[in-house]
Amino acid sequence: MKKSELLEHAKPFYEDEQLLELEHAIDIASKAHRGQKRKSGEPYITHPLSVASILVDWGMDIDTVLAGVLHDTVEDTDVTLEKLETLFGKDVAFLVDGVTKVSQARAGMQDLTEYLPQTKDNLSKLLIAIGHDVRVIIIKLADRLHNLQTLQYMPKTKQLKIARESLEVFAPMADRLGMGRVRMQIEELAFSYLNPAEFQKLQNLMRKRLGKSTRKLGGVRNEVEKALTTQHIKHEINGRVKSIYSLHKKLLKGERTIDDIYDLMALRVIVENKEDCYRVLGVLHTLYQPMIARIKDYISVPKPNGYQSLHTTVITPSKQIVEFQIRTYEMHEYAERGLAASFHYHEQKTSKDYTKSRASSVLPSHMQWITQLQEIATKLRGGEEIPKSQLTVDLFGNRIFVYSPKGDIYNLPEGAYPLDFAYLVHSDIGKHAYGFRVNGIIHSFEKPLQNGDVVEVITRKTSLPKATWQELVVTTHARTKLRAQLRKTGAIESISHAAGIVREKTRRKRASSD
Ligand code: MN
Repeated sequence: MKKSELLEHAKPFYEDEQLLELEHAIDIASKAHRGQKRKSGEPYITHPLSVASILVDWGMDIDTVLAGVLHDTVEDTDVTLEKLETLFGKDVAFLVDGVTKVSQARAGMQDLTEYLPQTKDNLSKLLIAIGHDVRVIIIKLADRLHNLQTLQYMPKTKQLKIARESLEVFAPMADRLGMGRVRMQIEELAFSYLNPAEFQKLQNLMRKRLGKSTRKLGGVRNEVEKALTTQHIKHEINGRVKSIYSLHKKLLKGERTIDDIYDLMALRVIVENKEDCYRVLGVLHTLYQPMIARIKDYISVPKPNGYQSLHTTVITPSKQIVEFQIRTYEMHEYAERGLAASFHYHEQKTSKDYTKSRASSVLPSHMQWITQLQEIATKLRGGEEIPKSQLTVDLFGNRIFVYSPKGDIYNLPEGAYPLDFAYLVHSDIGKHAYGFRVNGIIHSFEKPLQNGDVVEVITRKTSLPKATWQELVVTTHARTKLRAQLRKTGAIESISHAAGIVREKTRRKRASSD
């Protein structure tokens, strides 16, 4: 990628003034990286320009693109943060600083697969970066994607290390941000390096199978097209092919062979509104026999990362098994671009919009886990110890969505208890929780919640928290609130006293060993 290419690429999307700024950033970065080369032998500047170009493709705001151009300058050249701030403003400097810090955090990770669950400290740094401004992670993803695309020039051991880390950290991160297309790109590239033989084998198998099924699917597609047109449902039908990596994962799961996998190729029906999604489902189930267990309504209960679609698998009269995904254009856009879909070329958002309290109004509701990460990040910055489980659960574990009787959506880690929900709604509701009704039925304190539950908290003014409740919460939020309340009522005085002694001891020990 050259300067002129990037400018040409960005031209349709940004204002003239912003393009001038971009040109300026390219000049500064080119000068700073002068003489440096990539492993491919190309001038180093080709890398940041490619990263910026990816960010343009993702529709990011100009500050993010500028930071993409400049992302390696502070770490690898003598350009300072102060200089960037003077030239491009606080936000751009802030983003570059964030990206630099994440790289440094990563440099400390020796072998990620071995240490991943234990790399508390490095993970914390990643979390702090997210907590600051999620755009830092988006730049990091673009950086990683380009490094994977040019991985062939790296020595073998480095290839494996980067590929593994991509699969363990960056792909799940993209997934958590709902960036489905990026996640898939990262997975395919990383997998092709980690297990080239398997990748080749599956790719060949897939090609063979797809030739056959595409021909067969053609008939089904025509039939569906005709039925939808008769029903006056405006639509678009495309085929979607499973990725090699997800096929590999599916094969690993059971003793299945590629012939048992139905969704190698699915038909995707895109319509204009939600109502039409359900109408399409009705039409399909009238035409063909659905496999009941495989009907999934991710529209009324979205996946934790915000993904929405209806999925159904049907059997045609000729015994062909076909999977369908039905969604609106908007849902499709989100499934592909995720959080990046909420950024717009012209819209200027400042870092402040993404931090602390204001994040909740800028971020879509299913991205509220970012706000929760920010809470953790604030604590980490304050030097507070966060249990390891909390860190891994929040970033890599699964999350569930539950609802209040009024229909407000709350996002909790898998395995969360009703009390976690109560404290999430309000600490006073947690404090006076007396019982729970889940989906209309009385529900015990000990029974974890499930995705999609409607949870009602029954409160009594006279009811107060008990020390045993500490076993019945898993979120840091609930635990912190609960402990504070228990301390106030004197219920855990002895415990905190004991903890104080332990803390004092470890501090002395640390001091003497230093
Ligand atoms: Mn880079």
